[in-house]
Amino acid sequence: MAFDVDLFVIGGGSGGVRAARMAASTGARVALAEESRMGGTCVIRGCVPKKLMVFASQFSEVHETSLRYGWTFGEGTFDWRSFRGHLHAELDRLEGIYRKLLDGAGVRIHDARATVEDPHTVRLSTGEAVTAAHILIATGGRPNRPEIPCAGMAMVSDDVFLMEELPKTILIVGGGYIACEMAGILNGLGVQVTQIYRGAQILRGFDEEARGLVAESMREKGIDLHTGTDVKMMGPPETDFDMPAGEPLVMQDEVRRRGPVKVKTTLGGEKVYDAVLFATGRDPNSAGLGLEALGLELGRGGHIPVDEYSQTKVPSIYAIGDVTGRPALTPVAIRDAMAFARTVFEGQPTPVDHAMIPSAIFTQPEYGAVGLTEEQARHQEPIEVYATSFRPMRTAFAGRPDRVLMKLIVSQATRRVLGCHIVAPEAGEMIQLAGVALKMGATKEDFDRTVAVHPTMAEEIVTLRTPVRRG
Ligand code: NDP
Repeated sequence: MAFDVDLFVIGGGSGGVRAARMAASTGARVALAEESRMGGTCVIRGCVPKKLMVFASQFSEVHETSLRYGWTFGEGTFDWRSFRGHLHAELDRLEGIYRKLLDGAGVRIHDARATVEDPHTVRLSTGEAVTAAHILIATGGRPNRPEIPCAGMAMVSDDVFLMEELPKTILIVGGGYIACEMAGILNGLGVQVTQIYRGAQILRGFDEEARGLVAESMREKGIDLHTGTDVKMMGPPETDFDMPAGEPLVMQDEVRRRGPVKVKTTLGGEKVYDAVLFATGRDPNSAGLGLEALGLELGRGGHIPVDEYSQTKVPSIYAIGDVTGRPALTPVAIRDAMAFARTVFEGQPTPVDHAMIPSAIFTQPEYGAVGLTEEQARHQEPIEVYATSFRPMRTAFAGRPDRVLMKLIVSQATRRVLGCHIVAPEAGEMIQLAGVALKMGATKEDFDRTVAVHPTMAEEIVTLRTPVRRG
């Protein structure tokens, strides 16, 4: 049977765009549909605008630090609207580049929502149907909201980049990547930030010692961080939480209202904030695609189950990136895309490799991690832990209390470094390079025989002599 195209990609984010371009470069006829803006979460409402906001937020410390270095810059003020204008101009530019790349590769772009009608047919919101030998679903994820009345009054991460004004006070709910990064950003921009997290320590799943230092540093910088607490009720400022249920103003989620929000926490405290941000996780964007009708059962939370070649139970349909429930990271989606294109269009079956993924959380200070945490490694085998914590030269000179942590977890049996954890300014840059060493299977002795680069923070990672713990 002749199809209109060889590949139809649904979703123009990091994964979808890369898969479309790679497939097209093999001579395949490719089409791609995107219902929103080209570039997806990473470019439009995630990594890129977030990182630019991190940069913006870091200037607030320049004044204080510069004084010790003999400079005087004055207090400085931050103009959100001016920054937001530049930010969105940059996002427009990047979106344009994504479109150009697809055009240049010969990919036909449909600015429309697409659903899957049968294993080889995609139906567009324009009414057009396109048949395809293969369909690739790369629809990513979306922020979720807890199911409590008036949750619609809160922002999710998508909304932060579009705010008209910076709030004076904000309550951030959650203890994961987004909550902690946003807390640092908004605090740096001068917003009074309260963050609440339901668990005992933020950044669940990461190394305990590193999480501890990140939390301590966040508090040190002025974030009012409370663990073991969650939102119990929320509503407009005039809400009386003590009224019997149903009596007070209970807004439907569809009725979104921005403006001050009154929140009652599980610890009983009540306070009105200018804004509330839910950073309580992201869900796969799989609803309404028509997959269930094809017999494709979605996994828990709505992710699309795939095998190691990103193929679903319907042989002509593949899925990559956040919608699969794999680690929700742009570079993972891009790797998935490349492995998919190689497998399907270059005849080289390539399984995706998700071992030893380095990642960084852009808290302030940053936290970069690769491999196992101390807790995971200890559970697996006998280990040695090498770690140092110190005040880095740049800020110590300025009298600031900032601390850095460098930590290696080493297998006693093989001497291989099983995990590396760095909490420091620019830890994201450092962990990328440590990631190469760990992926190659470096031993502690390989780190030891590497000459230090002096004077740097990173040199401490090759000068760790004595284990601080064994077991
Ligand atoms: P995470 O899964 O990282 O964190 C979600 C947080 O919300 C957790 O602290 C979780 O608590 C809490 N939570 C979940 N449900 C509720 C609820 N109903 N009420 C209260 N708290 C709740 O999600 P994020 O939204 O922060 O980020 C999504 C993903 O995006 C990340 O996992 C990451 O893969 C990716 N990302 C990566 C970045 C990077 O690489 N720098 C930056 C931003 C995002 P608990 O721990 O108890 O479950």
